[in-house]
Amino acid sequence: MRKLFLFCLLVMLMTTWTTVQAAPAPPPVPGAKAAIAMPKLASAKKVQTLAASNFSELRQVRWANHTDAVTGAATMRLVMDVSGPVEASGVIVAEPTPRLVVTIKETTPGKSVDNLSFDGKIVDKVAFNVSGKDTKVIFDLPQVLDDTDYRVFTLPSDTAANKSFRVVVDVNKPVPLPDFSFTSGLKNKVIAIDPGHGGSDPGAIGPTRYQEKTATLAVALNVKKLLEKEGARVVMTRQDDRDVYGPNATAVDELKARATVGNSRKADVFISIHADSFSDRSAGGTSTYYYQKTRYDPMLAKALQVSLLEAGNLQDRRANPANFYVIKRTAMPAALVELAFISNQNEETLLSSPDFQQKMAQGIVRGLDRFFDQASKLN
Ligand SMILES: [Zn+2]
Repeated sequence: MRKLFLFCLLVMLMTTWTTVQAAPAPPPVPGAKAAIAMPKLASAKKVQTLAASNFSELRQVRWANHTDAVTGAATMRLVMDVSGPVEASGVIVAEPTPRLVVTIKETTPGKSVDNLSFDGKIVDKVAFNVSGKDTKVIFDLPQVLDDTDYRVFTLPSDTAANKSFRVVVDVNKPVPLPDFSFTSGLKNKVIAIDPGHGGSDPGAIGPTRYQEKTATLAVALNVKKLLEKEGARVVMTRQDDRDVYGPNATAVDELKARATVGNSRKADVFISIHADSFSDRSAGGTSTYYYQKTRYDPMLAKALQVSLLEAGNLQDRRANPANFYVIKRTAMPAALVELAFISNQNEETLLSSPDFQQKMAQGIVRGLDRFFDQASKLN
């Protein structure tokens, strides 16, 4: 259910983006580098100065890159002068492309404010868009950032220093991801398989009490056998009915333990296996989720989704972006599959049947083969 909600949220976000239109942007001014000092400010994601009584106008935009002398970390700072006090906040979105969306409340972009283009090392483009009463400043990023990799804050006016109200956005240069390159075929690949839930955590429970953890383990063990037959090495987060971290672990510790298995064993890809559940018992179908850390994550999810649909013949609930821990915190391309809805009586019966468990396992293996084939062509 949470997933459906998240998905709806993403759809809503995407519909707002469709209004976004990047106009051709002038090149950045060379030598703008040292224009802005980088004061050390207490971290604050959403800062508000005084409540705005009237609409403010975005008047001028300037930027600078800064490299920390000690850590070598690079940051781009964008400073926007506004005519009055405003509220500003930011959010990272992964789809359709990685972006930071900064909303400046009750503010209109002034005539002199143009879209900007950069070299793409920290930011590709910045677009200023009117969105209802607000201005949305859209930063196109080279890759998805963490919530700790940007800051949005406001500064009050300072008449003595001849400075107006300001909205400041700091964006960190992304830490380069390991450079993946894949060969085709399953032979010698290291595949991490994560059967969802287990032990004290049954996962979702079907109308006749069949438990998600039982289905995910059965399918995962089938996947393991099939992959090993193809010459792949399989790393399992669990091979029997147990908690991966421990029965009294917090949810995050448990998920962290699962991601760590994939990371420490240097898996090529990580697949988490789950079954879906929803309050409306007529809901059914197969879906796959990814978090776009690399260009391979959506490709992996789509390859798995296509193969799972061929194998199980259930409703196509598509490959969707999501923010789930195990697909976000794994260092390699990862996907989370929702085989079917355990809350749907027909699909609960399927999930508990050895025949369906084997078919879906074959679907996952074919999906992996499909993925490595596609990925090898990107090298
Ligand atoms: Zn689950």
